[in-house]
Amino acid sequence: IKKIGVLTSGGDSPGMNAAIRSVVRACNYYGIVCCGIRMGYEGLINDYVVELGPRSVRNLINRGGTELKSARSQEFRTKEGREKAAKTVKKHNIDALVIIGGDGSFTGGTIFQKEHGVPFIGVPGTIDNDIFGTDYTVGYDTALNTAVDAIDKIRDTATSHNRVFFVEVMGRDAGFIALNSGIATGALDILIPEEKDSIEDLFIAFEKAQEKGKSSSIVIVAEGEKLGGVYDLAKFTKMKYPEFDVKVTVLGHIQRGGSPTVADRVLASRLGVAAVEGLIAGKSNVMAGMQSSKLVFTPIEEAIKKHNEIDKDLIKVADILST
Ligand code: ATP
Repeated sequence: IKKIGVLTSGGDSPGMNAAIRSVVRACNYYGIVCCGIRMGYEGLINDYVVELGPRSVRNLINRGGTELKSARSQEFRTKEGREKAAKTVKKHNIDALVIIGGDGSFTGGTIFQKEHGVPFIGVPGTIDNDIFGTDYTVGYDTALNTAVDAIDKIRDTATSHNRVFFVEVMGRDAGFIALNSGIATGALDILIPEEKDSIEDLFIAFEKAQEKGKSSSIVIVAEGEKLGGVYDLAKFTKMKYPEFDVKVTVLGHIQRGGSPTVADRVLASRLGVAAVEGLIAGKSNVMAGMQSSKLVFTPIEEAIKKHNEIDKDLIKVADILST
């Protein structure tokens, strides 16, 4: 292998920059030329390719977002789009790709590899932590800490006014951020997509809390929870308990930003090096991940099809501690 291309694709996550830096520096260490492809697959299609030397990634490890920019590319979903992308790969003599992104990005990489024979290794970059084959994805720890920091602040105002706060955190399909931030902030209830919740159970939780003299409550709601979203939950709660001062906060994209935590920087650094070493060793169509502190390469099909499961014990811990 003489030349590796690196790109970030799909939703951005804090730590993607640290992963880019790691790929660039690992390439340099092993005497491989590294190209950055800007704007994910859009950049492959439109030839947004820049050569990256070790100095071009200085001051990057601590920065949120992705310097290469990310994109969702409709054109890459078409055969014609991927043909254009293959031309770019050929033009620059790129031998293999490191794709930093989520399962959609890995699906795109797999199809591209099948059609045009471009080897690739995936690095899981998403705040949702739902990718199989790694205990943690790059960006999750930072997003979680950002959420906890914000919820702590909400708690201050909640307790000052006897309020009920519904706080929406990110997670359309996965409740990792919700469950863990909920436990870390002592939420009264946590609603996640993986669990069957009912509004009656939520009301029972409110009543128990009142009986115990709790004057304010925080309910953490994952985006993808099945009861209809924070605004409906707030509306139903207000209808049932007109005396409650009910508030809603949607944390939104602040969870995607910010300087990555130590855990994310170290994870991104390890996986970036692993991806380059994996490609040198002839691996392809795998994702680099860490499981129980060990580096693991998971077949990409598995990483795409399966999902990290929520730990049922942790749900029980949340239940025990909220009463
Ligand atoms: P996140 O989990 O943050 O959403 P993701 O990588 O899953 O990240 P997607 O938007 O699903 O994000 O995928 C990123 C890009 O990968 C898409 O915009 C598209 O260009 C490419 N892609 C996804 N699925 C396919 C597919 N079936 N065929 C070709 N390309 C695909």
